[in-house]
Amino acid sequence: MSKPIVAIVGRPNVGKSTLFNRLVGHRRAIVDDMPGVTRDRNYATVNKYEVPFILVDTGGFEPVTEDRLLQQMREQSQLAMEEADVIFFVMDGREGLTPADREVAGMLRKVNKPVFYLVNKIDGEKLELASSDFYSLGIDSMHTISAEHNRGINDLIEELMGILPHSPADDEDEITKIAVVGRPNVGKSSLVNKLLGFERSVANPTAGTTRDSIDTHFTCNKKRYLLIDTAGIRRKGKTTEKLEKYSVVDSLRSIERGDVVLIVINAEDGVTEQDSKIAGYAYEAGKACIFVVNKWDALQKDNASVGRFVDRIRTEFKYLPFAPIIFVSAVTGQRVPKIIQEVDKVMTQYARRVTTSDLNKVFTEATEAKHAPLASGRRVKFYFATQVGTKPPTFVIFTNQPEGIHFSYERYLANRFREAFGFEGTPIRLLFRGRE
Ligand code: GDP
Ligand code: GDP
Repeated sequence: MSKPIVAIVGRPNVGKSTLFNRLVGHRRAIVDDMPGVTRDRNYATVNKYEVPFILVDTGGFEPVTEDRLLQQMREQSQLAMEEADVIFFVMDGREGLTPADREVAGMLRKVNKPVFYLVNKIDGEKLELASSDFYSLGIDSMHTISAEHNRGINDLIEELMGILPHSPADDEDEITKIAVVGRPNVGKSSLVNKLLGFERSVANPTAGTTRDSIDTHFTCNKKRYLLIDTAGIRRKGKTTEKLEKYSVVDSLRSIERGDVVLIVINAEDGVTEQDSKIAGYAYEAGKACIFVVNKWDALQKDNASVGRFVDRIRTEFKYLPFAPIIFVSAVTGQRVPKIIQEVDKVMTQYARRVTTSDLNKVFTEATEAKHAPLASGRRVKFYFATQVGTKPPTFVIFTNQPEGIHFSYERYLANRFREAFGFEGTPIRLLFRGRE
C-alpha cells in the first residue's frame, strides 16, 4: 500500500520550507553522494510518526515576480488538489490575509479532500489574536503554528494522524511489483507495451480492461508480476513543464508501491537533474533499482559508448553503485526481455536473508580489520549484528555508541556486507542500537 501524500501549498515566504524541514527533521547526511537531490529537495518520506507519509512542498525554489505569483499559486494548488491526500495550506500570520490567500482558499474549498488551514509565524500567545481575521475565509477551523519555534506542531500532527489511513501490515505475497518511472518522453509507455508484448507470447497477462488501468498483472515462467505504470504515462498532451512537475509526484507514488524500480533514462538526453531526483527518491525509499537506458537505437555508437554511459551513471548516482544498468530499445525490442531477468535477480537479493552466524563472521572480521573512529572521545565498541528485515535487507548493529557512528564507517560496513553477500541491485539498511 502506498503512503499517503501530504502537500504543502502557500505563497512564497509564508514558511513552507521551514514547516517541511520541521516535519522531515534532520537526517543523517548522505548529502555528499546525492548532489541535486538534497539541495533542492521538495519531497520526503516522513517516517517518524505513527503513520508514515510523503510530504511534498509544492512551492518550488525559484523567486517569482508579482504577476507570476497568482498563476504559480493556481498551478501549485491544482497539483496538490489532484495528487495529494491531504493539503496543508500555509498562510503568514504576521502579514495577515492577502488576496492570493483568498484565491487559493477559494480553490481549495471546492476540493473533496481534507485541507488544514495553517496560520504560521504565530510564535507566542500574544500573536494569537492577530490570526482571527483568517476566519473571514469562511473556514471552520485553523491551526495557529510556528514552524520555526515548533509551536502547535504536535497538535497538527495528532490531527493529521487521526485522518490518515492506517496501512495494514505488508502482505508478504509472492508477486514482484515493478514500478516504471522516469521523466516524460523517456519511453516508459513504449517500454511497458513492448515488455507486455513480449511476455504475452510466453505468458498470460491479465491486463486492465481499459488502457487506463494503472496496474497490469502478468505471469512469466510461472512467476507472478505486477507492472505499476506511472500515472503520468496517461497524461499525454500536457505541456512539458507541467508534465515534469507531475512526473515527480507520480513517480513517488509508483516507487512507493513497487519492489523493483526501473529508472528509465533517455539515452539521447543523457542524465538530467530530474533523473537524479527520481533515482534519489527510489534510493531513499529503500527499493531495489535498475537503470534502464532506453532509445539506445537512436544513438550513434562506437566501442566506447556503453562504457562512457556507464561512467556517467556511476558518477551521477554514486549512492546507487549496486544498481544494474541495461541498455535497451523499446522500438526495436533490443534487450527488452533481459529486463525481467534482471528484475528476478535483484528481487532475490532484495528479499534475501543471511544467517546470523554468517553475518557475524563477516561483521566481526570487518570491525576488527578497521576500527570505527572515536565518538566523542570514546572508543566505539560493537557487540553483534542481526538481520531484522528484508525488502530491503535491514540489519541492526548493537554498539555502545549508536549516535556516534560516522557515515563513512557505516558505508564501510555496508560495503563489506556487499562484498560478502552480494545484495546486487538492492539497498541495504544499517540501524545502530545502543547497548552498554
Ligand atoms: P517558503 O517560501 O514558504 O518556503 O518560506 P520559508 O520557509 O523559506 O520562510 C520564509 C521566512 O519566514 C524565513 O525567513 C523563515 O525563517 C521565516 N519563518 C518561517 N516560519 C516562521 C515562524 O514560525 N515564525 C517566524 N517568526 N518566522 C518564520
Ligand atoms: P513516456 O512519456 O515516458 O511514456 O514516453 P513514450 O513511450 O510516450 O515515448 C516518447 C517518444 O519516444 C515516442 O515518440 C516514442 O516513439 C519514442 N521512443 C520510445 N522508446 C524509444 C526507443 O527505444 N527508441 C526510439 N528511437 N524512440 C523511442
